[in-house]
Amino acid sequence: MTAKKRGIWVFGDYRNYFQNRVTLQLLSRAKDLAAKIDAEVCAVVFGNKVDEWVGEYIAHGAEKIYLTDHPRLAVYSMETYTLLMERLARHERPEIILVGATAFGREFAPRVAKRLGTGLTADCIGLDIDQEGLLLQMAPSFGGTLVAEIVTPERRPQMATVRPGIFQEIPHDYIRTGEVVKVPLPEHLPVDRVRLVRSERSPQREQKLEDAKVVVCGGRGLGSKKKFAKLFELAELLGGEVGATRPVVYADWAEHDALVGQAGKQIRPQILLSFGISGAIQHTAACNDAKFIIAVNKNPNAAMMKRADVAIVADASQICNSLIQELKRRIR
Ligand SMILES: Cc1cc2nc3c(=O)[nH]c(=O)nc-3n(C[C@H](O)[C@H](O)[C@H](O)COP(=O)(O)OP(=O)(O)OC[C@H]3O[C@@H](n4cnc5c(N)ncnc54)[C@H](O)[C@@H]3O)c2cc1C
Repeated sequence: MTAKKRGIWVFGDYRNYFQNRVTLQLLSRAKDLAAKIDAEVCAVVFGNKVDEWVGEYIAHGAEKIYLTDHPRLAVYSMETYTLLMERLARHERPEIILVGATAFGREFAPRVAKRLGTGLTADCIGLDIDQEGLLLQMAPSFGGTLVAEIVTPERRPQMATVRPGIFQEIPHDYIRTGEVVKVPLPEHLPVDRVRLVRSERSPQREQKLEDAKVVVCGGRGLGSKKKFAKLFELAELLGGEVGATRPVVYADWAEHDALVGQAGKQIRPQILLSFGISGAIQHTAACNDAKFIIAVNKNPNAAMMKRADVAIVADASQICNSLIQELKRRIR
């Protein structure tokens, strides 16, 4: 009898699918990891009428899907999903569980880890397998100045949440096939302490900052909410998206969704325009994959200026306005 293959599980976080491709990105990385430890890549899907996602995850690399499909799971429920994952993991004993560091994943994964009595590395920016076959979980630490490599030598499963935008998804392959294991809903489910009354999509969430080819990013140096708002006009003219630094988000000039950096999103644009940004490591760590950087800053010695391909020593707001004028003139 052949031994059962170890499983690398990816939680199927299909909500906001078109904005957030982290599950597909994790399936892609799981495939690389699985090849190193001879494991199989599995996706775990909870929901109601979720065949579409089952097909999608198989097409993106899942060999096996654990599926609980039931009307009771029509909306995401933290308590129920935690229970389902805990039960399934106790039964199937996966080697690794990966969860996207989405708003839901960041809350869900630590609960599952606690129930299973295992560790969890939150917000990883890299994953690998070490020489002993352990999952190497790379996470920023000490305010982002260091990247810690964390392993879970004893407890199982090894668990990590991973930021969206770190790994590249593999292309959709319609011909791929996979096994679907139907997992029945348990008879007794927790009574949800939170009831969803209504949900509405925030227009900001339609943005695809992580995938944008052009990102116009603004910092405190812009000076005011009104001046920052001009970036939206510029981004629209360039067909790009707007990003922001933490002080800007804290000052309520931009939504949290626009935050670029260690505590926000990872970007990989062809062109990054950076206005009034000092270039702190917590911000720039998320811009490493930008192909071409144009920075505007009054201070020529700002770290962002040193990283830029083109550094313009000037008032950020003035350059932004001039660019808008020039683009409008050319489009006319
Ligand atoms: C744990 C932790 C996590 C963090 N996570 C993040 C994160 O995810 N993202 C993030 O962005 N930050 C993060 N930070 C904060 C980060 O350390 C910096 O404080 C922040 O990025 C600085 O933002 P800023 O460049 O907009 O502001 P500042 O550092 O204040 O820089 C403003 C810049 O504007 C320039 N300037 C001023 N006036 C003008 C003008 N008129 N025209 C042009 N330039 C001008 C200045 O020369 C300066 O370089 C984090 C910090 C910690 C401790």
